[in-house]
Amino acid sequence: MAATHRLGVMGGTFDPIHHGHLVTAEEAFWQFGLDEVVFVPTGQPWMKGDRPVTPAEDRYLMTVIATASNPHFSVSRIEVERPGPTYTVDTLEALRAQAGPGADLFFITGADAMLEIFQWKDPDDVLSRAHFIAATRPGYDLARFETRAPTSHPNVSVMQVPALAISSTDIRRRVAAGEPIRYLVPEGVQTYVEKMHLYRSPA
Ligand code: ATP
Ligand code: MG
Repeated sequence: MAATHRLGVMGGTFDPIHHGHLVTAEEAFWQFGLDEVVFVPTGQPWMKGDRPVTPAEDRYLMTVIATASNPHFSVSRIEVERPGPTYTVDTLEALRAQAGPGADLFFITGADAMLEIFQWKDPDDVLSRAHFIAATRPGYDLARFETRAPTSHPNVSVMQVPALAISSTDIRRRVAAGEPIRYLVPEGVQTYVEKMHLYRSPA
């Protein structure tokens, strides 16, 4: 029997992608013995909270630029091309159909985003579709996560990652304020942000 393909899935808005995302994906690749990690930028919501979101094509391209040098990272257009909001269950279903029955799916997420997933959907349904890897994230209280998410479920693992207190929100704020983002994002992403004049005005 052929060995199963261990497919990591890293979903996100990636507005923009930063080193916190990349370190988290690489750590999951290593800790869980994955064969590859696919980054899945979300489709175009009109708003995320109360701010407009950068066009999906720009977020997709920045994700490609950031992951290009890693042979086991790739980027999927599956959500970018799907109209309407992105739901984790739909993404997993589509990737499962693409990957075939021989694949084991590992959904990689920060503990903050993981809680959101379980707030909206039937946890048993979501948990039957993939293994969930919840990464620690600076500024986010893991204890709160552990009391509210099904961490005792066999399909949920908590993963410690080297703490990088980087968020896309802070990067957008920095660009708007004229502060540097060098070393917070890959160089190519910084160049893309400058070239396309992204995040210049305060959200
Ligand atoms: P925003 O501030 O706009 O919400 P973000 O930095 O949280 O952006 P997202 O695109 O929302 O980035 O996150 C995608 C995924 O990466 C989520 O599961 C999130 O929890 C995780 N993540 C983001 N930043 C980090 C980080 N520094 N460490 C660990 N996980 C992270
Ligand atoms: Mg976020």
